[in-house]
Amino acid sequence: MSLLASKPQFICSKHTIFQLCVLILNLLTKNTHLLTLSCKDVGFDCNHVVKAGTEEEVIRNITEHAMKQHDMKAENMTPKMKEIIRKFIHNSS
Ligand SMILES: [Zn+2]
Repeated sequence: MSLLASKPQFICSKHTIFQLCVLILNLLTKNTHLLTLSCKDVGFDCNHVVKAGTEEEVIRNITEHAMKQHDMKAENMTPKMKEIIRKFIHNSS
């Protein structure tokens, strides 16, 4: 009786663990892009959000976006400007 009762539960819990592993794996793959920055955060009236794995990548992406969409000049992206932008980059969860 106890064997019969525990067997389906065992299979079930194994299945759940497997599903959990798949879920965690999916999350890990999706979370390669951890850092986000809203265009709004750097002062533009725009809903564009930049996502990347590193701060450098975020800054590069937002620079590209701002140059294309907001006519920002490349020379405006000074090291000082980058430092300011860096403060607005946050982890997405
Ligand atoms: Zn924008």
